[in-house]
Formats: sequence, C-alpha cells, structure tokens
Amino acid sequence: MPIRKKKDAPELSGETKELHEEDRILSPELKKKAVETFEKFLAHGHYRSTSERFKVLEAVLNRPGHFNADELYAAMVMDRQRISRATVYSTLELLEKAALITKHNFRGDRSYYEIGFDEPHHDHLICVKCGHITEFIHPQLLSIRKQIADKAGLRVVDHTFQIFAECPEPGTCPHNS
Ligand SMILES: [Zn+2]
Ligand SMILES: [Zn+2]
Repeated sequence: MPIRKKKDAPELSGETKELHEEDRILSPELKKKAVETFEKFLAHGHYRSTSERFKVLEAVLNRPGHFNADELYAAMVMDRQRISRATVYSTLELLEKAALITKHNFRGDRSYYEIGFDEPHHDHLICVKCGHITEFIHPQLLSIRKQIADKAGLRVVDHTFQIFAECPEPGTCPHNS
C-alpha cells in the first residue's frame, strides 16, 4: 500500500522552485508511516520481517537526497551497523517495490535512489561535469503532462523529467569547489 498521498494540486503556473536538503527531511509521522507501510508490505508479500531490513529502512529515512546502494552500505558500516552489502541491495529492491523509494538512472550505469513518497513531485537537473543534482518543481510541467495524457485519453500517474547540463568552465562550478 503506497503511502504516497497527493497534496492539493499545486497551481499550474508559477516559477521554478529549487528544493534543498532541508525540504526533504521527513517528519516523525511520515517516518512512522513508512515503517508501518513496510511492515504491511513484507507481511502481504510473505517476505521475512527481519531487523536488518528495518535498519536499512531507517538509514534511508534519515538520508535526504540521492544515494546509491554502495554509498548507503558504506554509511551504515561507518555508523557501526552490522549489515551485509547483500542485505542492503536486496532491501532497497523491496523498498522500491513497496513504493517507499524511487530508483533513478541519471545517465550512468549506477542506480540512484531517493525517498519516493514525500510529495510534491520534483524533477532533476544534473550537471554532467561534476555530477551535482539540483531538485526542482516546475508547476507548468504538471500541466504539460496532463495536456499530453488527456489528449491520448489517459490519466497521469507519474512522470520523469531529467535535464542534463554542464558547468561552463571546469573549476568554476559553484557545486564543484
Ligand atoms: Zn557542475
Ligand atoms: Zn530527487
């Protein structure tokens, strides 16, 4: 049962809003809801409900932004958690199935994850030189996707929009100093 809940539809006009890490920090209520969702998901799917799996979920919930499986594993080891790399990988797959996290491929061979149930929907601007990712909300994208789907007689459930760009000069990137 995904706990993604739609907030009131944002206005369909307006400026691009950049999101920052503090915008992505989850409230204790949302964290609790995520744990309950995962419990139900494991029970329904007849997966074992192990403490390791919930440790991985907790690490994810405390990590705003984008991460890959190895980064999460390294952070958990640094945090002196007893966890195997295989458990981190397999739990991330389960969390994705449970719609608690979203997987992205930012033009590379690696998958990146992020918390996927906090709304509103945001999109990504990726610097191909330094790898910096800017998260943004652009209200008009929501109206464009609706127009396109409406025309085809479909109902929008989700979209992905990624912009790849580069910093003008190596060494001058504000994110890469
Ligand atoms: Zn850059
Ligand atoms: Zn993101």
